[in-house]
Amino acid sequence: MKIILLGAPGSGKGTLAKKISKDFDIPQISTGDLFRAIVKEDSELASKVREIMQSGGLVPDEVTIEIVKERIAKDDCKKGFILDGFPRTVNQAKALEGISQIDTVILVDLANEIIIDRLSARRTCPNCGEIYSVQDNLENVCKKCNSPLIQRDDDKPETIRHRLEVYEQNTSPLINFYSDRIFKVSSAGSPEETYSPVKTFLSEMEGKVE
Ligand code: AMP
Repeated sequence: MKIILLGAPGSGKGTLAKKISKDFDIPQISTGDLFRAIVKEDSELASKVREIMQSGGLVPDEVTIEIVKERIAKDDCKKGFILDGFPRTVNQAKALEGISQIDTVILVDLANEIIIDRLSARRTCPNCGEIYSVQDNLENVCKKCNSPLIQRDDDKPETIRHRLEVYEQNTSPLINFYSDRIFKVSSAGSPEETYSPVKTFLSEMEGKVE
């Protein structure tokens, strides 16, 4: 199954992607994670991407599309994949049409006020990518790999608003672009409540696509 997760930053795409990945045995491809790995390198691209990410802007389409194209070509994507954070522009969506067919687009829906609260409280494991909320992890240490948690630079309040504006302007037009393939789910409840209808939907679809 080839799945796109669409939704604003902080809507819960990453958490949902991890659950789908585990149950359906397909990789989560997070462009944000791919870029966070790139910025650790010592290169011109790394410093360019670092600056863009810190401001909450978007990495240029050419760079992003190339990275996704390479990732999708890997063996573990043969059975399918979950795109988490890509496409983020209509240009990227059009380019994706030339790279792979897509079975479904899951729109993760959450009000901006809740997003701002959740992102401000989000803590991330820099080692394995696990996500926590500050109030559920007072030790501030990853329960999976014991690394000290961090607050992502772009989860700081001044950047969150800008990321939401960028979503509204550049990414939300994709809801129209994919209107024939959208399955919408609210992520206002717990991660399990969000996942439950998605799991039912994907289980029914799984039989039809392979
Ligand atoms: P995320 O972890 O998905 O919130 O992504 C973190 C940051 O990586 C974004 O704010 C962008 O700067 C960059 N990024 C991730 N995915 C994309 C994309 N598809 N196009 C452009 N920039 C992206």
